[in-house]
Formats: sequence, structure tokens, C-alpha cells
Amino acid sequence: MKIAVAKGDGIGPEIMDAVINIFKAAAVPLEYAYVEMGKWVFDKGFNNGMTDEAKKSIEELGILFKGPMETPKGKGVKSINVTARKTWNTYANKRVFQTLHGVDTVFSKAGIPIDITIVRENIEDTYGGIEHMLTHDVALSRRFITRPGSMQVIRYAFEMARQKNARRITCGHKANIMKITDGLFLECFYEVAKEYPALKADDVIVDDLCMKLVVQPNNFDVVVLTNLQGDIVSDLCAGLVGGLGFAPSANIGDHICIFEAVHGTAPDIAGKNIANPTALLLSGITMLRHLGLLEKAAQIENALLYTLEQGVHTGDFGNTSVPPVNTTEFANTIIANI
Ligand code: NAD
Repeated sequence: MKIAVAKGDGIGPEIMDAVINIFKAAAVPLEYAYVEMGKWVFDKGFNNGMTDEAKKSIEELGILFKGPMETPKGKGVKSINVTARKTWNTYANKRVFQTLHGVDTVFSKAGIPIDITIVRENIEDTYGGIEHMLTHDVALSRRFITRPGSMQVIRYAFEMARQKNARRITCGHKANIMKITDGLFLECFYEVAKEYPALKADDVIVDDLCMKLVVQPNNFDVVVLTNLQGDIVSDLCAGLVGGLGFAPSANIGDHICIFEAVHGTAPDIAGKNIANPTALLLSGITMLRHLGLLEKAAQIENALLYTLEQGVHTGDFGNTSVPPVNTTEFANTIIANI
């Protein structure tokens, strides 16, 4: 089986090399087709951030494992990440936030386990980037929420919740203010809920949801939201389990799926070999499960968890009285534990 791999920008190549080395050490039966995609490809003159060969290869292989990518600043350039999600209609962004032993947080110290899955609509909302100046002093942004777009992500969320025997599925929204757009999303949520009578389905207004997630995170299981709200709430959930270094994500489409970490290119630490590869590794483990490589996924996950429990950590987390290791050393410890 062959997958497309794009190392990305900033810390991308460092963490991708670490993860692929772990996969190779675990003899994961995958071949890797490295594709040209990222800020440096914009700089080569491709205004969608990927070469034609990269696009063709990803479309043939159906799976893209990607590092974080930077969009060049300035008007007229669309985010490469948004372009990729739209080009391949990866309509659902699934982000799993779980307590990891060895990663201390206020909740783990209080013995409160966290296991929250955020499903974020991935294509619509304000991410169309349809904005303009109405007058010199007035900027206008348009927000699209459609019934088909909402139905497909909500259906995905319910089906995934059913398969994982979720206790509860919650819709986060702001339909009290955005009565038409978020109102439509909420209406779709309860329409799909009728097909899943065994699942406890409810809704919470997004600001209240943020407060409740921080106060009692273990009350939540699967939460589905529109694009922008899902983006913000999932970073909040990353904070609950130790930060962006532990937040994996899967962009799910019917034909192409993209697996990547939630975090960005971390320009402040790029090139120093100190980034935490865990989020990308967890995204890779999700990808292996998606591909049916369940034993390899479990083997690598166990090695990662054992490494974290040993107290081995990069500088962004863990016991500060124990000196941190660098990205390569962290990956090598996982390899030794496989
Ligand atoms: P960021 O996630 O890159 O960094 C935020 C903070 O978290 C920084 O202090 C960084 O050092 C730290 N951090 C992030 N990942 C880390 C890791 N693996 N290990 C240790 N520390 C880590 O967010 P930002 O600074 O807002 O964005 C930087 C760039 O990344 C921007 O160009 C943005 O557009 C891009 N970005 C890309 C993606 C993606 O490719 N999916 C997602 C988010 C941001």
C-alpha cells in the first residue's frame, strides 16, 4: 500500500522524518510517495501550493499524510490547508483529545480522564474567505452554511459516535444569534438525530460549551460544530490534554483523506530539532487504523504511551525537573520501546 507524504514547512520536515522513522522501525507495510506541497512550492510559482504531479499523486493514492504548512502572507493567496480540504471535499475534520499517561495536566493530576472527539465541519462557514471592503471603513465577510454540507458532516459524526459507542453527541452552535446559518446547522443535527434514537443527542451554545468543557470535560463525548467554532473549540480541547503537541486530526472525505496534526509550523522553534512529534504520530496512528493496519497502530501507540509514562519528554511538556530530549531522541526512545 502506498500513501502520499508531504513534509510541510517549519517544524514539518523534522517531525515527519521522526514519525516515518518510527513507522519504518515498526515495519509498517507502507510505501511513501513524497509530494511537493507547501510554502516553498508557492515560492516556485504554483499558486495553490502544490505541483501538478503532487495533486495527481494524491488523487491516485487517496491518502495524504501531511506536515503543517504555511501560507504566504498577503492578499490573493488562499491557505494551502483550506485549498487542500476544499479541492478534495474532506468535509469532516475529526480531532480526538484523550488523557495520555505521562502528560501532566490539571485534569490528569485531579484524576479526571478526558476523551473528547470534536467533529468540525471542514469546508463551509467563513473559510470561503469571501471578504471585501464595503466602504473604506467597513469590511464584510460572507458565511455559507448549506444543508448538504451540514448533513454530510453531521451524518459522519453520528455514525462515528454510534461505532465508538459514544455516551452522548452534542451540537455546539450560536443559533441564538446566527439564527439562520447556525439555525440551519442545528436543524440538520436534530434531523439526523432522529435516525439514531439510541444516542443521547443535545445542543449547547458555543460560549457556554467552552465554559462547560473547561469545568467538566468528562461530561462530553462527541461534539460537532461548524468550521470556525470547531477550530476554536478544538484548540481549547488540545489545552485540556496537554497542548497542541498532543492534538491529532483526520480530514475525512469520500475519496481522499488527509491526516495531519492540529498545530501549525511553529516557526519559533523550527530547525532546532526540539519539536514534539506526538501529535503527528497520533495522526499517523489514526491513519494506520483507517487503513486497517490495526496491529501496527496498537504496537506504535503502546510504544508511545510507554515512552510518555517513562517521563521522556520534549521541552513543551512534562516534568521540568527532568531535562527534555530533542525530537530525534524522543523518536529513538519510541523506536527502542517498539
Ligand atoms: P502553531 O501551532 O504553529 O504554534 C503555536 C505555538 O505552539 C508555538 O509556540 C509553537 O512553538 C507551539 N507548537 C506548535 N506545535 C508544536 C510542537 N509540535 N511541538 C512543540 N511546540 C509546538 O501556530 P501559529 O504560530 O499560529 O501558526 C504558525 C503557522 O502555521 C502559520 O503560518 C499558520 O497559518 C500555520 N498553520 C498551519 C496549520 C496546518 O498546516 N494544518 C495549522 C495551523 C497553523
